[in-house]
Amino acid sequence: MRYVTLNNGVDMPILGFGVYQIPPEETEQAVTDALSAGYRLLDTAAVYHNEEAVGRAIKASGIPREELFVTTKLWVQDPGEDNTKRAFDASLRRLGLDHLDLYLIHQPYGDVYSEWRAMQELHREGRIRAIGVSNFFPDRLIDLIDNHDIPPAVNQIETHPFYQRAADQRFMREHGVQIESWAPLAVGRNNLFTHPALTPLAKAHDKSVAQIVLRWLIQRDVVVIPKSVRPDRMTENLDVFDFTLTEEEMTAVTDLDTGTSLFLDHRDPVIVSQFGKARVED
Ligand code: NAP
Repeated sequence: MRYVTLNNGVDMPILGFGVYQIPPEETEQAVTDALSAGYRLLDTAAVYHNEEAVGRAIKASGIPREELFVTTKLWVQDPGEDNTKRAFDASLRRLGLDHLDLYLIHQPYGDVYSEWRAMQELHREGRIRAIGVSNFFPDRLIDLIDNHDIPPAVNQIETHPFYQRAADQRFMREHGVQIESWAPLAVGRNNLFTHPALTPLAKAHDKSVAQIVLRWLIQRDVVVIPKSVRPDRMTENLDVFDFTLTEEEMTAVTDLDTGTSLFLDHRDPVIVSQFGKARVED
């Protein structure tokens, strides 16, 4: 496994396992399979409603806690530090853990200032090793950085061959924020797995298109967290450290950028209002 070193010195695996849209009743098995395959970074969220199942799989695995890197995310809260601390305690309880490796503000909506103040405190108390955000564009990111003591260690954003985020990544790098990709495989959209620009690269390296895409992201120093419920694909997605894409091959993927999301626009007022008003029960 390769690691990236975050802006506070914490090492984070560059490749992990995401559990979005895995139903709670299937998540324990999926995470058990992922840990057996060799994943050590797990990515969940309060809003996925599967933290308890992730926690059961962690416990049953017997893997020492210090070998794991567990991320969960804070859903939009009512204002006030106490609400964030309560949500954090609820996530930890569901996960059966006494600390988190990475806690992210899931969406750039609502009173993110009070959320960040609470997260800074939890970090200082040693209950979270690194704190970060998700779905923040550079304008929101710089606002948070300029007005607080601790800058985010990570920004988890949609990043894949059709929405590459090169300028956003440059901005984040300038400010010491590690980019982490959600939907690294674009959830297979735009015929990713059979795309005519990607299949020749897969053939040339005797790899799958999924492996080419994950390798392309990793060579850009992007942390990736592909999701699969299939053990064969979990193993396949981990097996990306024994080959290197040439500069020319990297460029062939770069040419696929459309510069727009395949899923949702976080700046669309309808989304802002809909997500910003939704609440997750603790
Ligand atoms: P993804 O990882 O890009 O794609 C997952 C899809 O690809 C699943 O349908 C999976 O099917 C399939 N797949 C996986 N490996 C494959 C392979 N080797 N060959 C063919 N198909 C393959 O999408 P994602 O789950 O949306 O994103 C990954 C993680 O990012 C999530 O699980 C979550 O942790 C995080 N995320 C965060 C946010 C956010 O707002 N912060 C938003 C979305 C996602 P099978 O399961 O059937 O194999």
